[in-house]
Amino acid sequence: DEPTVRTYKKVTTPTKPRKAVNIPEYLKTAKPHLSFVVLGHVDAGKSTLMGRLLYDIGAVDTNHIRKLKKESERIGKGSFALAWVMDQTTEERERGVTVSICTSDFDTPKANFTIVDAPGHRDFVPNAIAGVSQADVAVLSIDCGTDAFESGFNLDGQTKEHTLLAKSMDVNNIVVAMNKMDSVNWSQERFMDIKYKLSAFFEEVGFHEDQIKWVPVSGFSGQGVFKIAYPKEQDWYEGKCLVETLEDVAQAIGTEAKKAVEDCPFLFSILEVIPSKKNEEAIISGKLGSGSIQPGETITVYPSEQSCVVDKILKGKNQDQVGIAIKGDFVTLKLRHAHAEDIQGGDIAASVDYTISASQNFQLQLLTFKMDRPLLPGTSFMLFRGVCEQPARISKLVSTVDKHNPEKILKKKIRHLGSNQAAIVEIELTERKRWIPMLTFKENRHLGRVVLRKDGRTIAAGSVLKIMNK
Ligand code: GDP
Repeated sequence: DEPTVRTYKKVTTPTKPRKAVNIPEYLKTAKPHLSFVVLGHVDAGKSTLMGRLLYDIGAVDTNHIRKLKKESERIGKGSFALAWVMDQTTEERERGVTVSICTSDFDTPKANFTIVDAPGHRDFVPNAIAGVSQADVAVLSIDCGTDAFESGFNLDGQTKEHTLLAKSMDVNNIVVAMNKMDSVNWSQERFMDIKYKLSAFFEEVGFHEDQIKWVPVSGFSGQGVFKIAYPKEQDWYEGKCLVETLEDVAQAIGTEAKKAVEDCPFLFSILEVIPSKKNEEAIISGKLGSGSIQPGETITVYPSEQSCVVDKILKGKNQDQVGIAIKGDFVTLKLRHAHAEDIQGGDIAASVDYTISASQNFQLQLLTFKMDRPLLPGTSFMLFRGVCEQPARISKLVSTVDKHNPEKILKKKIRHLGSNQAAIVEIELTERKRWIPMLTFKENRHLGRVVLRKDGRTIAAGSVLKIMNK
């Protein structure tokens, strides 16, 4: 089949930055950047915690908070003001559930941060997937209130599903916000009990102890978040507060990210296309998955294969114009010679000397989760890659492999796949409207990840082994 998306003539010669930045010098002085997604069960206090964090850090002005307070009193939900800081549309407020992904930036003297907000409602796990796909680390909010932990964790299992998602999408660091500690009088026993139970689960999923940090907080009172110190009842925890903990993680991850900036191609996952009034201009926002970019350089957007010149790079809370963006940064790019009508969220941009394949057929290495029914050739599901979501089906079960050593083939002629199995499969997209650009896991650990869902449940996670042409 021919791709239905209009394609353009691709340029292959790179263009020079307008005002070249010395990359090694820049890397030496740049503050580390960290993006994190907030996960956890509905009502675990995620929105309140993030509102509190942004408020105490000074990222929201007092007028805005006053307005939110007034509005929340008007509809009779007085305590909701903090929780609304991150919500953007009034429609979401009236319903009382956050529905879409949004990003918020804030800075501390030590690091720059982007919060990718993923709402916790079960129906919106797809949003969590999109959020996780754009995050470097996950902040997992746990309601430490009596019984709340047990019902959220053991019964509903959303905490589990989110953690599994994070792990399977290569988000390998978790900061556990042991939240609502005020409601259990900052009990160390409660904290230790929950930590003990969660640790066992984290280990089972494959996290190492040193990839997990535990911070007691109250989003409500702000104690342990940033500005407000712990109360006197809490005299047992000697670690850092939430923001300082995030700064440490930013330092570690940012240093790691910087190492790869110079040798890697520019890869950019597009989250949103912002309307522009100018002719042949496209404004796209997204995240650099690798490499760096400067104004004046030419990039190609896939799958339309249009080559555009980066005119401006905007970054941070105030969308300041900057001379360079590097791996991990969330930025808005203004592109010249672009046809915005053929670009959409989920597309990928790359350096002109790099090629990304777009296809309908992929070979995956899968790890199945707990499923009610086995996976068979022909089984249909929804495929998630970053912010893309496409109907697909299994076209072939190739083999089962060893979970701990995927190179090792266990069985070749398989008829079906059950729960908790590792396998190689081939899939095809069933709605042949638009090809989706894909990277293999080898090309980019983060972008080459997919999640499979069926009937409202996550059934498997995988990495892309091959992009096939059929
Ligand atoms: P979300 O669904 O995870 O975003 O949770 P929300 O932030 O909307 O909070 C859910 C409920 O828990 C609300 O009624 C909040 O007022 C309450 N809550 C949030 N944070 C705290 C906290 O730190 N302590 C206590 N006691 N209650 C909290």
